[in-house]
Amino acid sequence: MRLAILKILALTACIWLVSCSEKPGEQHAEFFVFGTLMEVTTWGADKQLSRKAFARLHAQFQDMHRDWHAWEPGLLTEINDAFAAGQAVTANPAILELTRRSQEIEEQSGGRFNPAIGGLVRLWGFHTSDYPIEGPPPGKAAIEDLLKQNPSSLDVRIHGQEMSTRNRSVQLDFGGIAKGYATDLAIDTLDQMGISNAIVNAGGDLRAVGRHGDRPWRVAIRDPAGGIIGVVESREDEAIFTSGNYERYRQENNQRYPHILDPRTGWPVEEISSVTVITNEGLLADAAATALIVAGLSEWQDVAYSLNLDKVLLIDENGRVYLTAEMNKRIGFSGKVDKKIIETL
Ligand code: AMP
Ligand code: MG
Repeated sequence: MRLAILKILALTACIWLVSCSEKPGEQHAEFFVFGTLMEVTTWGADKQLSRKAFARLHAQFQDMHRDWHAWEPGLLTEINDAFAAGQAVTANPAILELTRRSQEIEEQSGGRFNPAIGGLVRLWGFHTSDYPIEGPPPGKAAIEDLLKQNPSSLDVRIHGQEMSTRNRSVQLDFGGIAKGYATDLAIDTLDQMGISNAIVNAGGDLRAVGRHGDRPWRVAIRDPAGGIIGVVESREDEAIFTSGNYERYRQENNQRYPHILDPRTGWPVEEISSVTVITNEGLLADAAATALIVAGLSEWQDVAYSLNLDKVLLIDENGRVYLTAEMNKRIGFSGKVDKKIIETL
């Protein structure tokens, strides 16, 4: 049902859907970007100013959608085509920034976050908005073949606005980081326009600044089993991102193959149902949540430490919750939860 609605929205891609003041003090607009409903809410801002900001954000989101999309033809597909052909290509500042930050996070996460595995993502059929995908996984030989070529964002060289790589298997896919960076850029735009109380919510992943009047912004954290597992009250400027293995997957008979891949094996990651990260940057929160799903139960603490995170929540396949002491201070659970608090990372 939700997908059907999203498909209808996709037909009106990036059309400004709603802009109305729903509650006193609030202005709200919705956009459809990257297969996700993007909601922007301001609090306490002048109505005219909010409308102007929403129009500006609309244009920005359209540019992002066109330039960053991993499979709809645009700047990123041009860049990937150039890489495959061994040619240098001119990027733009946002893609250069996404690439540079990806390189840092790929390194810090020991390759668990790797946005150069677009070839693998495509091989698995995950270049679609239409989930679940039915059918068997790709052949082992095709996966091995891609793995041997070892694509990495660190293979990308940047000279001014130009990017190039000697590794022709590099195919950039910013699916694990784009929403995060989009929320950062949107918050920057709002800030430049003098709007300091706002929330930019990309399908449940968000960055929030300021407050909702006399109270903080309240953010619900989804339970992979359905419903909400808890609520976080955001502090002045925070990004709260969740990566899940429960919504986007391929399935064959009763076997599910979720959309987050371990770049080291080429296979989807199981074991963890969802990871939530709170930090002060959308881009990092988004990429880190993806990386920590890949890290799994045995490695997430090391990877979180190396990414400098202190607020992390993991839910494993059996519904058991693992969380850092700092996250435990921040989340109010909705019901009784079987949790294990990790005191030090
Ligand atoms: P997210 O929902 O933020 O965890 O992002 C998942 C998306 O990131 C997938 O649909 C792929 O486009 C991409 N992706 C999958 N596995 C990885 C990975 N290990 N590192 C970076 N991006 C990935
Ligand atoms: Mg992510």
